[in-house]
Formats: sequence, structure tokens, C-alpha cells
Amino acid sequence: MSDFTYALDADGVATITWDVAGKSMNVMSMAGFAELDGMIDRALADGGVKGVILTSGKKDFAGGMDLNVIAAMREGGAQAIFDGVMGMHAILRKIERAGMDAKTLKGGKPIVAALPGTALGIGYELPLACHRIFVADNPKAKIGLPEIQVGIFPGAGGTTRLIRKLGALVAAPFLLEGKLSDPKSAKANGLIDEVVAADGLLARAKEWVLAVKDADLVKPWDDKGYKMPGGNPYHPAGYMTFVGANAMVMGKTMGVYPAAKALMQAVYEGALVPFDVALRVEARNFTSVLLNPSSSAMIRSLFINKEALEKGANRPAAPDQTVKKLGVIGAGMMGAGIAYVSASAGIAVVLVDSTQEAADRGRAHSADLLDKAIQRRKMTEAGKAEVLGRILATTDYAALAGVDLIVEAVFEDPKVKADVTAKVEAAVGADCIYASNTSTLPITGLAAASARPDQFIGIHFFSPVDRMALVEIIRGRATGDRAVAKALDFVRQIRKTPIVVNDARYFYANRCILPYTNEGIRMVAEGVEPIFVENAAKLVGMPVGPLQLVDEISIDLGIKIAKATKAALGAAYPDDDVDAVVFALADQGRMGRKAKAGFYSYDAAGKREGLWDGLAKAWPVAAVQPDLVTVQHRLLMTQVLEAVRALEEGVLTDIREGDVGAILGWGFAPWSGGPFSWLDMIGAARAVEICDGLAAAHGVRFAAPALLRDLAAKGEGFYDRFGGRKAAA
Ligand code: NAD
Repeated sequence: MSDFTYALDADGVATITWDVAGKSMNVMSMAGFAELDGMIDRALADGGVKGVILTSGKKDFAGGMDLNVIAAMREGGAQAIFDGVMGMHAILRKIERAGMDAKTLKGGKPIVAALPGTALGIGYELPLACHRIFVADNPKAKIGLPEIQVGIFPGAGGTTRLIRKLGALVAAPFLLEGKLSDPKSAKANGLIDEVVAADGLLARAKEWVLAVKDADLVKPWDDKGYKMPGGNPYHPAGYMTFVGANAMVMGKTMGVYPAAKALMQAVYEGALVPFDVALRVEARNFTSVLLNPSSSAMIRSLFINKEALEKGANRPAAPDQTVKKLGVIGAGMMGAGIAYVSASAGIAVVLVDSTQEAADRGRAHSADLLDKAIQRRKMTEAGKAEVLGRILATTDYAALAGVDLIVEAVFEDPKVKADVTAKVEAAVGADCIYASNTSTLPITGLAAASARPDQFIGIHFFSPVDRMALVEIIRGRATGDRAVAKALDFVRQIRKTPIVVNDARYFYANRCILPYTNEGIRMVAEGVEPIFVENAAKLVGMPVGPLQLVDEISIDLGIKIAKATKAALGAAYPDDDVDAVVFALADQGRMGRKAKAGFYSYDAAGKREGLWDGLAKAWPVAAVQPDLVTVQHRLLMTQVLEAVRALEEGVLTDIREGDVGAILGWGFAPWSGGPFSWLDMIGAARAVEICDGLAAAHGVRFAAPALLRDLAAKGEGFYDRFGGRKAAA
């Protein structure tokens, strides 16, 4: 089996074509690297070869490194990783130097990259080592280095080359944020050299190869007198760039991402030394990141397991359930968003509300989002018309004839929902699957209104629908396998990430978020400085502090949920101390962000100004404050223990879903890889110790669940015991 093929034409131009068998996208493996190396050697050694074009046999160039290979590399320890990385550097450096004389820099053979489409990670690092990069004029193509998003950084020379090509300031968003560009903006930003009409890509590359001069092949950093654009770090201008960049990285990441720090270190130290030494510096920092438990947990959750779930790891066996026509009932905030993402994915949508005005308003939401995309040049007028053409806004249930999936998003009221279920079932065919987007009402209860409870399921979207990647699928007690398969096929069509959970109060995500916000509120009542609570959360990697999150969710919704929970739990209700704070805010009309007043103060335009100074009057700040780690443990443990209980109770059946769902659903400290990954990182024994301390000081909500104690006693971790398998329910 070969990943690359080699062909030499009559003009002496060799074409190396990357085309990994059985995959829709090329990914680089160690074997692939060795094969490419052999072909480069062959081209350089063959006197009949004038130059080389590196291209792809697929519509895209490459998706990146096979991260499973990186996971395997880690097994060998630091030296094995470092040697492996230096081996990659040697191949790319060989391409870059292309057989030229080391002193005169003459006599090399041109090696160019001709990219038909997307080129990510190693798929762009490899072209960076080539002498020129041609990209087909394909607006769907994405070029860039997204590694930082899965907890590593470009470690095959991409960091060192891009910094030297663009300078630290210009390269920063591409390295530090993993920003991707379409071909035209990649050209405008200096990431690539030429955008060429797709059908002329190889011809243009060949023309350049045959016309090349020695000087065209010498990279600026191999030339005498090279200066880094924007200035080296020891130059006053360059120095300021690095001070600013460091501050920016710390501001954005709060220092919790080892990859961001290691990247900055590789860039700074690398900029002080010659190119080949800089590659070693990059390799050393890359090795340390690969060995950091945060990067392995992030890769596992955000890449390997996320992809496995998207590919249907937990899909029951059932024939293809691709949705052709979707009915959305309720064109409010959620329904309008669901209609938009579905129509954008090519699905015909019937959007029903009780008045034509409301239905039209729901459809107009799509028009607004499409207009914004046009402004950002991500959409055309014709594309907008096509998407809008798929959405029929109506009050007429008869228009639902022929739909194969319903997503109901009307008011959160069981009576209204039951009424809608009956009306819809009278209008649709017997095979239609019916999903509710409820956020709090148990699916099993809602299914009582259905004549076909086995076809009734929960599909829980997060707000805003167009931006949130997670969809929680809820299996009611009677829900059948075909309904689950339908929900999963639908989520796949709209390119989001699904988790499948069993029916229980607040399902999975909301169940874990509420204790987090409650713990923050409880601390305010205890006299912990509110800004300390907020910053402690951010310093442990939560994107939003608990008090800000309550303001975003809205205080009145919090009260509604609290009342419903209290009614259900009676005397066992544990959150009266939290409610005292929330009700006091509500009494003063401080309903959160939408009221421009909550835990925070807002200006007239609704911009958050700072924590409300009235908080200190109502809940005086205690003279003695807890230490930072205790506050952080309280904020993390409340969420994590809820995730463990959800697993114990069989609400979660797969810890991969628990981890991926936590990061995508509510932003749970992504550096940790999710709640179960975090517990594995600190170890069950340490986790139990923390819980025992917190339980003694703050109450039984921190009592370690039996499962955690059992893992601690046996010295096991969650991934040891449950791995990628389903947990026993
Ligand atoms: P919303 O008030 O913005 O929209 C509800 C829409 O349903 C309104 O347009 C209303 O006119 C329409 N409607 C009400 N009764 C109807 C009927 N009998 N027939 C047809 N249309 C009817 O509410 P929302 O925020 O979009 O929430 C909708 C559902 O989604 C709720 O169940 C809610 O719990 C759930 N949900 C909300 C969020 C969120 O963040 N807002 C997140 C996840 C799930």
C-alpha cells in the first residue's frame, strides 16, 4: 500500500501525488513520511529530473498529521518523540535545500506545492518547506495550522518557518489561534504564493518549475543578512512585539494551556538563533507539549473522540435515516436557529408557528445570518436565496405532510407541548420521528402525549444554535433505536457533535452547569469576594465565571428552574441558600444581562461594566478569604461530581460523551480534556481526598460518589476502566 505515487513527464518534471487509499482526506503517517522521503531522494538523484510538483489526488491536499500516530509516538517517551520530530525536520529541510550547494546555495532543484484544496497542519507545513505554493481558486479550501485548538502547536517546522516568513505579529493569529484562511486571504496574508484557476493548477506549477532560477530557491532565512519581518526579539521593535504577544497569550489563555506557552517559547528562543538550531528548539518544546497530560487529554477528547462520536460511535444499527424534509414547530429563538442550520445543510424545512408573523420572523432570522455571512464574504446572494428557498414559514400544520423528522421548540410548558404533539401527529406520516428541544422537561413524560412513544425523542440544542457545536440527544424510556439513529443522522447532516444520554432531570449538560453557577452564588452569600470567584473560575480555564453565566442565562430562568426543582425534590431540596441570593436580585429587578442589571452592572447599550457594587452591601465581603485553589476546587468539583453521578446513574453511558459534551456544551476547562479526563489527570485517590476535605467544610454535595472511591481503592482511572467502550449502565 502506498500513500504517494511518482511520475516523471517528458519535460523532466516529476509529480509526486499524495492519495491515501480508503480515506476521503489525506493524513500523514510515519510510513507516509518515509515514502515521501524516498521519492524526494529519487528525484534529487535522477539527473533527468528538473523539478518536482507535490500535489494531491484528492479534491483537498491534506487534513494534517494522523493524530493517532502522535498518540503512539508518545508511548516511546521524550527521546523517541524528539528523534521522530527531528526526522520529520530532516525530510522537510531536504526538500527546502533541494540538493543545492551548502555554501553557494546554487544547483538545487525546484520542489513546489500545488494544492487543489484544503491544506491543514502538516498539509501546510510541508508546502511551507517547498519553494513555491500554488493553490487552486477554491473558496471552500482552508489553509492553516489549527494544531493549537487540540492542545499542541505546529511541530514540523511550521512554527519556525511561518514566524520567519511573516514576522511574529502577522503570524500570531495563524499560530496562536489556529486561524484558517481561504486561498485568496491566504495569498493576501502572505501564507501562499499564487492562487490559480483550478484547471490550470498543475500547468502553472510546471511553468514555474521550468523557468526557475537558482535565487528563486533560496529561502530568505538561508540568505545572508536575513532579518525577521517586524524585527528580531533583540531589536527594540521586535522586542515590543514579543512583550505584547506574551501579554495577549496570557490574557486569552490565563496560562492554563501548555501548548500556548511552549509555542511562545519556541518562537522567542527560536528567533534568537540560526534556522537549524531554531528547528531543534521547536522540536524540544513540541516534545514537552506532547508529554504534557493536558495535550493528550485535549487530543483524545477534541479530536479522536469528537470525531468518533460524529461518525456515529454510539449509533444503533438501523438503515440510513438521512433527513429529507424537516418540520420545526415554534419559530422563536431556538426554532429559528434550528431552521437555519438545517436549511444551510440542504434540508427542506417547514417552519410552523401559531401566527404567520412569528413564523416569518423566524425565517427572517436566517436572512439576517445569511446577510452577515455575505458581509464577511462567506456567502453569495445566490447562496442566500437557495437557503431561504428551503424554508417555508407557515401556520398551517397540513404543510407538514411528508416531513420525516419534527423538532418541536415551542414554549417550555408541558400542556402546550402535548397539544402540539397531538396536532403534529395528526398531520404527519406514521414513520415520522418526533423530537422535542425541551431543556428541562423529561422526555418520557412528554412522550405520554404521543401515539408513537417509540418514535419520540429529545434533541436538545444549545443557544445560539448556529454557533454551538454540541447537540444532546435524549433517549426516553420508550424511545426506540430508529429514533436515536434518526437523531444522530440529522446531527451529522447539520455537522454538529452529538452525545446520546438517557432521560433524567436536566439531562447531562444543564445538570452539570447548574451546580457550577449555584456554587458561585453560594460563595457570594458566604462573603467570598465576587470578583475573586469570577477570576478563580477563569484562571482554571472556565471561559465564563459563574456569576456572569447566571446573568447570561437570566435570573428569572434560574428562578423558574429552582422552583421546578424544589417542587420535585421537596424537603431534600439543597439550594435554599442559593435561592436567597437569586430571589433578592430578582426583587430588585436585576434579571441579568437582558435587563441590563444582574450580578453585573451594564451600561445603557447593555455592555457589561463590572460587578454590581450593591452585592457587597447585601452580602458583605468576609475579612478572611479562602485560598485560590479551594475556590477553584469547589467550582470544578461541583461540575465534575455531577458528571460522575450521571455516569453512575446510567444517564451517561460513555465517558467520551461526558468529556466531549462538557467542553462543547458549556466550555468545561478545555485544557483538561473534560471532567473524566481531569479526574484521571489528578488521580481518583487525590480526587477523593479533595472531596473529603470539601465535604467536611462545605457539605454533602461534595461527598465522593461510590464509583470514584472504588476507582481510588483499585488505583484505576475512568479511561482505564471504561476506555472508549460503553460503560455498563
Ligand atoms: P421562544 O419563546 O423564543 O420561542 C417559542 C416559540 O414557540 C414562539 O415563537 C411561540 O410563538 C411559538 N409557539 C408557542 N406555542 C406554539 C404552538 N402551540 N404552536 C406553534 N408555535 C408555538 O422560546 P425558545 O427560547 O426558542 O425555546 C423553545 C424551546 O427550546 C423550549 O422548550 C426551551 O426550553 C428550549 N430550549 C431553549 C434554550 C434557550 O437557551 N433559550 C436552549 C435549549 C432549549
